[in-house]
Amino acid sequence: AKGAGKDRHERFEPIMHSAALARLELATALRTAVAGRELLLHYQPIVDTRTGRIDGVEALLRWPHPQRGFISPDEFIPVAESIGVIGDLGNWVLRTACTRVSQWPNLRLAVNVSPLQLGPALPGQVRAALADAGLSADRLTLEITETMLAADSPHVRACLQEIAADGVKLAVDDFGTGHSSLSRLRSFPIHELKIDKSFVIGLATGDSHPGLVAGVIALAHGIDLEVVAEGVESSGEYILLKNLGCEHAQGYHLGRPVPPEDIDALLRQHPTQ
Ligand code: C2E
Ligand code: CA
Ligand code: CA
Ligand code: CA
Repeated sequence: AKGAGKDRHERFEPIMHSAALARLELATALRTAVAGRELLLHYQPIVDTRTGRIDGVEALLRWPHPQRGFISPDEFIPVAESIGVIGDLGNWVLRTACTRVSQWPNLRLAVNVSPLQLGPALPGQVRAALADAGLSADRLTLEITETMLAADSPHVRACLQEIAADGVKLAVDDFGTGHSSLSRLRSFPIHELKIDKSFVIGLATGDSHPGLVAGVIALAHGIDLEVVAEGVESSGEYILLKNLGCEHAQGYHLGRPVPPEDIDALLRQHPTQ
């Protein structure tokens, strides 16, 4: 007769094995895709609620996988980080997005940055991307997350200070999901808070509490930060946020992430200058 241990082993090994294999396959495919420049950028409009016009876009990575269709960046960014390709990939995103947005008059650009990119090389890479694209620094915002500030490493601080000194803006992404203290936020050269979509979706229908969002907006304004709301999915949410003084809004109601050609078309209909 088999022991319980062996039994358990036989039952669970194939499952663990297939999960590990799937991870490995994903990592291998991603490595190939990054080397072969198979990833794409889509751009999602960001609207200035004071004018009602598109005044910027956020660049969002897309990976068209031959078998699986588009794989979510929430799934492959952690893999890119763990196999050490996020530096190359992040620099490609920066350069590609700066070049594209330089063709759209007056439009601002927001780019997501992985914590692993926050090192001594980043300020130079940002400068080079801007210079090569002919994009002025004040049109670029880098989006970082609360956890990057929470660690409070001197290297991260130096990196962000150098980037901000060049005139590039910094936004704290997914605000409200981490736990950054206000005093710590103030000690970094941050320009903007981006309220996480989990607080915005359902705002107009009572599924999310307007008082909470109103509080975050007031708090941000109290320390001279502007506010972007993401996940704006209805006109009710948009109007509420606008009335609360939220300067910028982004979400499916205002425009989904789309290929650059679609932004071209959008700007022909609604010129920004
Ligand atoms: P994020 O930076 O918080 O980006 C916003 C996400 O919300 C995007 O998901 C966007 O498509 C989605 N979204 C926008 N409007 C709405 C809405 O109205 N409702 C809902 N439910 N969702 C909305 P996406 O494109 O799947 O990206 C997921 C995450 O992957 C991003 O979250 C970001 O953390 C990461 N990511 C994407 N591109 C890059 C990149 O170039 N570099 C790095 N490091 N991370 C990236
Ligand atoms: Ca973002
Ligand atoms: Ca976000
Ligand atoms: Ca997010």
